[in-house]
Amino acid sequence: MVNLDQPTIRAQEREMAMQRPRVLAALPGEGGDAVVLSEQEKKLPEVAAGWKRHSFNEYVCEKISLHRTIRDDRCQECIDAEYLEILPTASVVIVFHNEAKCTLLRTIYSVLENSPVSMLKEIILIDDFTDLGARPDMGVFLENYIKKHFQKYVSNELIRHKQREGLTRARLTGAAAASGDVLVFLDAHCEAISGWLEPLLQRVAEKPNVAVTPVILNIRDNDFEIRATAPHNVQIGIFTWGMTFTWERYFWRKRLNNVKNNSTKCVPSPTMAGGLFAINREYFYYSGSYDEQMHGWGGENLEMSFRLWQCGGGIETHPCSQVGHVFRTHSPYKIPEGAEGYNLNMRRLVDVWLDEFKELYYSRSGGVWGDEGDISERLALKEKLQCKSFAWYMDNVATSIDYFFANDTRTGFLHSNGHCLDVGNLPMPLAPQNDVGTYPCHFEVGGNQVVMFTRLKGLTRCAKLGC
Ligand code: UDP
Ligand code: MN
Repeated sequence: MVNLDQPTIRAQEREMAMQRPRVLAALPGEGGDAVVLSEQEKKLPEVAAGWKRHSFNEYVCEKISLHRTIRDDRCQECIDAEYLEILPTASVVIVFHNEAKCTLLRTIYSVLENSPVSMLKEIILIDDFTDLGARPDMGVFLENYIKKHFQKYVSNELIRHKQREGLTRARLTGAAAASGDVLVFLDAHCEAISGWLEPLLQRVAEKPNVAVTPVILNIRDNDFEIRATAPHNVQIGIFTWGMTFTWERYFWRKRLNNVKNNSTKCVPSPTMAGGLFAINREYFYYSGSYDEQMHGWGGENLEMSFRLWQCGGGIETHPCSQVGHVFRTHSPYKIPEGAEGYNLNMRRLVDVWLDEFKELYYSRSGGVWGDEGDISERLALKEKLQCKSFAWYMDNVATSIDYFFANDTRTGFLHSNGHCLDVGNLPMPLAPQNDVGTYPCHFEVGGNQVVMFTRLKGLTRCAKLGC
């Protein structure tokens, strides 16, 4: 237990786990700037090959120093913030499959050079069965590099899966090897900026039942530009009924919650993106860690989000903790179980946590019925932790997300002078096909003129896909 009643100090006064070598200011990408290639360079075959391998510009990534600094564009309140002198220790867990050398090493250096020596317990790397034939750098070269440069923090024995397990089980392998008070998960293509760790650890110390995420900055996939941001740009996590994670600009909520642009306070978030977060190690296990029967990629973030909120914990984003992540438009690697593995993950999370709301996924948003394996252990966990219903979560946490149940909403016709709001095959030029317009009322039940209220007092008429 951390004593919350002790002196506080600024990030600048702490000693970091590793000293950053002097970096020439003129190097490409310094400060988080974009690396702009000449027209000639852009045509090099290596550039196209790098994109193909990683779905980001590996050629640009290689040009940037592994020790680059990121200009600190956070608000002054965050830069000057003080945190407890003694905080819990962190085990940073990084899982990877077929990652690029430049992103993985820069992730590690950014952690070492921006984490106080007194708090960084270790960095745990889990190789989820990288294809070493196609990625020779990730084999002996990586092992030797670790021995030479990271010995104090990364175990000599790199943990390598003997078969592809997917990211959920890779993170579980990492968590099992960790011994710090707090688990801090990162993807293998991140850049932590100065002062990223203290806010996460302090919040977890204050509230051991919340997972705390940093603000996730975009490292642009083509030129690796990255910028720190002020709190009013903080986005929080939400979801669609098709069970995909999306962002909601905190900006829109700011007025509701009365939070200032320069606030250094945590913001509750209904869901998390999943790759970057800190959680008390004991609470991680107490609250059900992960569903280890999930495959490949996807679903584990929403599963954890719903579970934490419904079972007495929560998720918060700290505006002063900021970490970059390369967002890719498509995945560069194959998932052995493919779409079926993904759909199975979705069914497992929906069937355990969504209660009657699962109808919104299966019947209206493209959810695919099918096998989901055995979910009895997850249901038993829900029982044991006496978790609240999904309706409670919608009413108290995910309050900005709209929905309606057809049998539980006001239904009717919107009409004036015998003309009804209508969608569909309206006569031209009144409205093109499927557009909205008016048409003489026919008051047909279930027809194109029926409109319904959603819970957020919107009007809808569609009862099927995409509502
Ligand atoms: N990953 C893994 N095994 C897999 C799929 C992904 O270890 O089967 C790793 C991947 O290398 C990355 C993290 O899990 O470090 C998250 O995956 P990714 O970055 O592709 O997801 P995204 O950030 O695009 O959602
Ligand atoms: Mn990622």
